[in-house]
Amino acid sequence: MTGLSIVVPCFNEEACLDLLHRRLTAAARSAMGEDYEIVLVNDGSRDDSWPIMQRLAASDPHLVAIDLSRNHGHQLALTAGLDLCRGDRILIIDADLQDPPELLAPMLETMERRGADVVYGVRKSRAGETRFKRATAHAFYRLLSRATEIDIPLDAGDFRLMSRRALDVLLAMPEQARFIRGMVAWIGFRQIPFAYDREERAAGETKYPLSKMLRFAFDALTGFSSAPLKLASHFGLLLSAGSLLIIVYILYAWLSGQSVQGWTSTMLIVVILGAVQMFVLAMMGEYIGRLYSQAKQRPLYIVQSVAGGGPPRDGRLGQVAEATANRDKPGGSGTLPIR
Ligand code: UDP
Ligand code: MG
Repeated sequence: MTGLSIVVPCFNEEACLDLLHRRLTAAARSAMGEDYEIVLVNDGSRDDSWPIMQRLAASDPHLVAIDLSRNHGHQLALTAGLDLCRGDRILIIDADLQDPPELLAPMLETMERRGADVVYGVRKSRAGETRFKRATAHAFYRLLSRATEIDIPLDAGDFRLMSRRALDVLLAMPEQARFIRGMVAWIGFRQIPFAYDREERAAGETKYPLSKMLRFAFDALTGFSSAPLKLASHFGLLLSAGSLLIIVYILYAWLSGQSVQGWTSTMLIVVILGAVQMFVLAMMGEYIGRLYSQAKQRPLYIVQSVAGGGPPRDGRLGQVAEATANRDKPGGSGTLPIR
């Protein structure tokens, strides 16, 4: 076990890597001494990122560089790094230095002092980002928090410090469409916000064009909310109520002889079929929603700690993570194997 892993997904970041390495090393060294590793994940970069990473890895024994076979996307690259890192605590950070590595020490201190499992960065301000990006991000996080059942923190990215036991639970979630900041929120335990000012990109351009942003937003919404599926239910309900009124009107028009030949039967068919179709769609939506949540195979619950009752129990449906008691002891791993 290493005291700290810093995990960085990188896509076409050749211009940032040297500076990133220097600043991460300085921050890690001052907080942890020699007890840290830096895990750089090359997410199928098309520039010179990989040769640079190889060079850095050859010169620095603290650095591990991982080369993915192609561009898998930010969240999967990050997952690869998290999967392969060995730290007792884990810092997730972007390669572009928008999130200052120097915050590592105060974040570690917050984690310690508050007994937290997750300290997540919350952006007070975002420098150097377009107004469009800021506005869409602002709207997106608010929409998401209304649509989802769990509390996904507003304006938080993936910049966060996590304990090993929180990471182990995260890694035990096998879902394909990964919205990591939401999944971490879902885990629970004690999670503390840490406000900071987001800086400008150190170099290069954003690797999140609109298409990727949209896919990301859609993964978030569909991964944490079945609200879109439930739309059919709401429409169905509205339509059924509305169609009752319309049917009354149609029959009234028919009885009072105001309608043209054929109008009554056509209208009745349209209205009734519409309502029935919506109803059936809504039913299917409910089943699909359940199938989807089953397919994600998340643990059903996560135990934080157990008091009393003798030797540890072996539940099979949830995740068991040991209390933080010995997490901070030197050499103490602080987690039970996840069952
Ligand atoms: N990234 C990645 N794969 C991708 C896109 C982005 O690994 O397909 C990395 C990128 O190198 C950076 C992080 O994800 O370290 C966040 O990307 P970026 O800074 O471009 O996003 P923004 O801050 O503009 O939202
Ligand atoms: Mg960035």
